[in-house]
Amino acid sequence: MDTFEGRGAVITGGASGIGFATARQFAARGARIVLADYDAAALDRAVAQLRSEGCDAHGVACDVREPEQVTHLADEAFRLLGAVHVVFNNAGVAVDGPIAQMTHDDWHFVLDVDLWGPIHGVEAFLPRLIEQGQGGHLLFTASFAGLVPNVGLGAYCVAKYGVVALAEVLSREVGNDGIGVSVLCPMMVGTNLLATSARARGHSVEDQLIAGDGVLDVDEVARLTAEAVLADRLYVLSHGASRTSIRRRFERIDATFDAQLAAGWNH
Ligand code: NAD
Repeated sequence: MDTFEGRGAVITGGASGIGFATARQFAARGARIVLADYDAAALDRAVAQLRSEGCDAHGVACDVREPEQVTHLADEAFRLLGAVHVVFNNAGVAVDGPIAQMTHDDWHFVLDVDLWGPIHGVEAFLPRLIEQGQGGHLLFTASFAGLVPNVGLGAYCVAKYGVVALAEVLSREVGNDGIGVSVLCPMMVGTNLLATSARARGHSVEDQLIAGDGVLDVDEVARLTAEAVLADRLYVLSHGASRTSIRRRFERIDATFDAQLAAGWNH
């Protein structure tokens, strides 16, 4: 996809954070937008802001855990936009804590939103993008935690590794349909993720942006993400600080072959 001009873009988790900032980047480049989120009030505010900035924007309430709601989102997006070209599966939540302390509900909460959400997005949109025959782009938000093991974020890592796998395999399968694939894998970004995730589990918490050393501004990450779509880059790696950890993971895997060879394993 070499332009956003006149293209239809759907963004899940679009009412705040990375989703909303990326919608603004797409809109600034001429895209027409459908934002989806399960927080209806935040969604209304986000759509109103995009419209006040001159964007052709619509909101569709959607909980990505529910396949029928994601199918409804696709129906509405094609109806409202006429054609859909970019689908950004971005909605996500985080639960921290060691795997030994994860409850069954913790696992379900994270996997239902962070892994089944993107799978539902692919199920609902990919056949229609292919049928539409105009190419397009599937975009996913995974995480740095989808590329290397993050201690204390085990359930989140399991979900995000799955999202990276989904994107990597799709990129090999849908290129002939003119559909590009990108997966955003950031370290910390200045969003409200932790408070949003806590509220989604019924905890009453104040908004609190992620802050501190190495936390990137959400608009910068969104700009890189929009550029990655145009450049058809599979990996969107916003944090240079993640590079060494990613390399070391593959070095650890590679070194295992040497260790096994040295121990006499020749297969
Ligand atoms: P955010 O909380 O600002 O945005 C997430 C949005 O998703 C919210 O508007 C929320 O209402 C929505 N959402 C949550 N569950 C949903 C559901 N079931 N259905 C529909 N919408 C739902 O946080 P963010 O940081 O912008 O998160 C966006 C993505 O970025 C997530 O996938 C997250 O895992 C990922 N991520 C964030 C960071 C970070 O440091 N902020 C780092 C790596 C990856």
